[in-house]
Amino acid sequence: MRFKKLNRKTFLVSLLCLLGITVFSLSYIIINISFNENDNPENINQAQQTITPLQEKNYDQALEANATNKAVNSKKGTQPPQAIATSSNSSIANYDFSSWNSYCGPTLIVVNKNNKIADDFNLSLSKVGDKEVSTLIKSNLENMFNDAKQDGVNLFVSSGYRSINTQKILFDRKVSEFLKKTNSKAEAETLAATHVARPYTSEHNTGLAVDLNKISNDFCKTKAYDWLIKNGAKYGFILRYNRDKTDITHVIYEPWHFRYVGPKTAKTMYEKNMCLEEYVASLIS
Ligand SMILES: [Zn+2]
Repeated sequence: MRFKKLNRKTFLVSLLCLLGITVFSLSYIIINISFNENDNPENINQAQQTITPLQEKNYDQALEANATNKAVNSKKGTQPPQAIATSSNSSIANYDFSSWNSYCGPTLIVVNKNNKIADDFNLSLSKVGDKEVSTLIKSNLENMFNDAKQDGVNLFVSSGYRSINTQKILFDRKVSEFLKKTNSKAEAETLAATHVARPYTSEHNTGLAVDLNKISNDFCKTKAYDWLIKNGAKYGFILRYNRDKTDITHVIYEPWHFRYVGPKTAKTMYEKNMCLEEYVASLIS
């Protein structure tokens, strides 16, 4: 009888232990699965496998600050952009970058004559001096200004972020100027668009572009301009509308307009003398 009692006790204790172990194991498995789905880098890598290895390599070079965005888009099933013929300037100039723009993340977005900023473009603004710019560029812009000052160069923002409405006012003003020279509204608009971007097609609508110091062609003769050309890329800024790229950008030479693309990308673009359209085209060719 005593033996039987002892045996029952042992059986109950063993059963409880077994139950405990089972509960513990199940909890471990559940916690591990949810961790894998959310955070495990291997899981994110798997989601990126829709891209071919070559594109993966190129995209990684470009998307320095946008890896998470890329992973999220890949998970959502956003397709990488279609290949583009980089040999032809006109095919780059007229390329539809909308697929790229939805894929690449904010700092490499291409906004130009043929590529409008999306209505749902996510923008957070911060002030540099008394001008608004994208929060993404604030610290690099301020660092650049501070370091320039150390070299005796004074830099400041003349024009930063512009709302679509402000862009419309500027564009209409330019159209009125050209209407004094031509009777054709369409022609006046076409001419105006080479000087002021139409609403939704200006980089200023993204907050990623800044006009620095004097908005004038003479700015290219200044010490500040030389400093920017030499040093801007270190802080992620490139001269956006160079004089030898107007057939691609459809914008006149603007020595004052600088665009943030991130230091790594800016360095490559500077070294290879590529405008943004050419650079992105080289990634997706
Ligand atoms: Zn500008």
